[in-house]
Amino acid sequence: MSAEPDGPEDRLRRFATIWSRAVFPATSTSLTRPEFEELLLPLARRLSEALRARTYDAEEGRAVGAALVEAHCTEPEALSSALDCVDAYLVLYCGGDGHQEDLRARAARLQSAMAAGYAEALRQRTLTEQEAIARAALEAQGAVARALHATEARFRAVFEGAAIGIGIADLDGNILQVNGALLRMFGVTEQARLARCVTEWTHPEDAPQVWRLYEELVRAEREHYHTEKAFYRPDGTVLWTNLTVSLLRDADGNPQYQLALMEDTTERRLLNLRLRYEATHDALTGLPNRTLFFERLEKALAAGDGQRFGLCYLDLDGFKAINDSLGHAAGDRLLVEIADRLQSCATAPGEMVARLGGDEFVALTTGPDTESEVDDLADRIMNALVTPVRIDGRELLVRGSIGIVEGPAGERGPAEVLRSADITMYRAKSAGGNRYEVADAEADARAITRHGLTTALPAALDRGEFFIEYQPLVHLGDGTVRGAEALVRWLHPQHGVLGPDRFIPLAERTGLIVPLGRWVLEQSVRQAREWQQRHGGRGPLRVNVNLSPCQLTHPGLVQDTVEILERAGLEPDALCLEVTESALIGADDDLLKPLRRLAEMGIDIALDDFGTGYSNLANLRRLPVRVLKLDRSFTQGMQQFPADPVDLKIVEGIVSLAHSLDLAVTVEGVETGAQAEQLRILGCDTAQGWYYARPGPPERLHELALVDATG
Ligand code: C2E
Ligand code: MG
Ligand code: MG
Repeated sequence: MSAEPDGPEDRLRRFATIWSRAVFPATSTSLTRPEFEELLLPLARRLSEALRARTYDAEEGRAVGAALVEAHCTEPEALSSALDCVDAYLVLYCGGDGHQEDLRARAARLQSAMAAGYAEALRQRTLTEQEAIARAALEAQGAVARALHATEARFRAVFEGAAIGIGIADLDGNILQVNGALLRMFGVTEQARLARCVTEWTHPEDAPQVWRLYEELVRAEREHYHTEKAFYRPDGTVLWTNLTVSLLRDADGNPQYQLALMEDTTERRLLNLRLRYEATHDALTGLPNRTLFFERLEKALAAGDGQRFGLCYLDLDGFKAINDSLGHAAGDRLLVEIADRLQSCATAPGEMVARLGGDEFVALTTGPDTESEVDDLADRIMNALVTPVRIDGRELLVRGSIGIVEGPAGERGPAEVLRSADITMYRAKSAGGNRYEVADAEADARAITRHGLTTALPAALDRGEFFIEYQPLVHLGDGTVRGAEALVRWLHPQHGVLGPDRFIPLAERTGLIVPLGRWVLEQSVRQAREWQQRHGGRGPLRVNVNLSPCQLTHPGLVQDTVEILERAGLEPDALCLEVTESALIGADDDLLKPLRRLAEMGIDIALDDFGTGYSNLANLRRLPVRVLKLDRSFTQGMQQFPADPVDLKIVEGIVSLAHSLDLAVTVEGVETGAQAEQLRILGCDTAQGWYYARPGPPERLHELALVDATG
């Protein structure tokens, strides 16, 4: 035996073998099983190719379904066993190395198409058969008139032997005769168990036109009609049929009887319902899936005037952690429990809950009053999550973030609404989770440009779209310019000048901050060197450069900085690196080592935005820091006059502590002369703010420095 793994052709053949074994017993073919397998092989190939084709083509599935009818796979069980087999083995044997979930979804759609193609082909065949029978019946009736016994006998034979149900009634609806097939469909053995009159055969699901067509027929205004109709069997169950009713006339052309031909479609209908259910529901939780949700949302958004919709987009907080730590089985059980709870939150008419995938769920409410209803819905969902979920004897606390979108029908499409909900959900998440946020167009637009900006960032550095502005640092004692902080900006081709708050967080997330930060450092160091050369001996002009937390942990930091300083010929003590307080909270010695090395070389380290984090003041001693930059919020407290006494006390305390640790204090955001004076009295060393100058081009600093040197 060969140890070679099967090739695709072998696998296809195996699928065809299994398929033929499953379906063969339910055929009325005259072929042998191996012959039948040969017949299925091209169909299997067709399915296999359709499964992996780049785009889905329902026609392929329908053609295979029709071919099954052609091959006499028409016994009641045939279609379901063919589909079961496709369901179980197609992806397995013909999926190749495609993405499993996509393949399964594709296979499900192919099955639906097969069922549809099968039903259509069968209907066509039955119609042809029915026509033949109707012709025979007509001939027989004519023959009765002429008392030709032979034809009558032939009709009897067709009547009794037919696989489809046949019934004859007079034009008042009195049922005269039914055949064995019809009795079997109704689950009875004798005609007496059936209704006596056709008009008793009503069913709540009768199409509105059914009884109108009937009336027209018995009034001889039409020769026949065809419809899909349900009947109650005597045992109360429902029988679905394809029904054709024809008018029979006598030899002189006078209407005399009605002939009903019915084909049992109950099985097929159930199967279609099942397929439809599977294609539109999530297998794990049983909730409607993305497909069904989109259909419903589309309908809600297309509703008429005065109709509104409200949508809650829920994502569980920290679900990945649960999955990773307790395993997928536990994660699945959690999702099932959550799905049940959500389901009970949306039970009113017009409400629905669906699972979009993973730990993402949506709840939809529709109608005229969704403005208030959607908030209630979100509250109910949040409440439903409050009780911990018990899994494996553990109590799991589940939280979620919800994005709410609400609005009138007729304005937006489903994709746009869902995107807005998704963005809003992320807003709730980044605000800490366990909350809901309501969508607003402005926040959406910001988030969308954020996405655009992230993708444009790398090229922007190559294209030289960044530039640096410098904001002077002024000595509070004598008012001289001592240096400047470098603040980076992005001249975006579409959005104009963007401040660092717009793109630094994105650069940090994508890692671009490292090359960008290095570029800023290079430029600023070169600029500082130029100032010094221009300024001659009148005191060194220093430059402050901001460092991101990611840059701190980058292994090249010390090396890069040394090289940059050497290349520009700038002394290390003309450089100050600003690190935010939050980046150093809880920093261990490993993180502090590069900073310490830089400090040892003579570079100043400043603790930026001091007072916004919660660092322990006693901790300051551990840090290789020379300067505290007091956050703008302290300065703001001094804007009114008299200044807030508590703020004054705090600043005074910080300054005296800093000085006792030999740290200099710089204040940010000085906007008025009164503030500057106040801060000077409190003992701050340097200041920065609009009162002195806004950030600007490097030449401006040169002028400013000259002005105070002469003034
Ligand atoms: P920061 O280091 O605290 O910079 C001070 C911010 O306060 C600057 O905002 C500045 O324009 C602003 N500012 C200065 N004076 C006043 C004033 O009197 N009133 C008010 N209201 N604001 C004032 P900007 O330029 O938007 O920078 C924001 C933050 O971006 C900076 O905060 C810094 O953390 C970061 N950043 C700037 N450039 C860089 C960089 O090259 N690398 C890194 N990693 N971060 C940077
Ligand atoms: Mg700064
Ligand atoms: Mg700052």
